[in-house]
Amino acid sequence: MRVTLRWLTWLCLSLMLWTAVAESTHNHPNKTASASCSICVAAHSTAPSTNIHQARPVFAAIGLLHEEELIAKARFSVFDLGIRGPPAV
Ligand SMILES: [Zn+2]
Repeated sequence: MRVTLRWLTWLCLSLMLWTAVAESTHNHPNKTASASCSICVAAHSTAPSTNIHQARPVFAAIGLLHEEELIAKARFSVFDLGIRGPPAV
């Protein structure tokens, strides 16, 4: 199982390598042949367009922040039954 998996891995890697070499090194005698080549069509179909319009950001106020003063309601609850305070020095 392990040997088969290893050979299958090497086979897939070599196929990928040879495919990459074949795609990058192939050429055509004229432009009409390259128009019908599926590799060339796929390679040139994702070429970025030069007339790209980017949207400008719009900055507008959508509301105002109203701060409200908040007072925390904290209270100390001292339980002084049975708890001795720290010794006085
Ligand atoms: Zn081609």
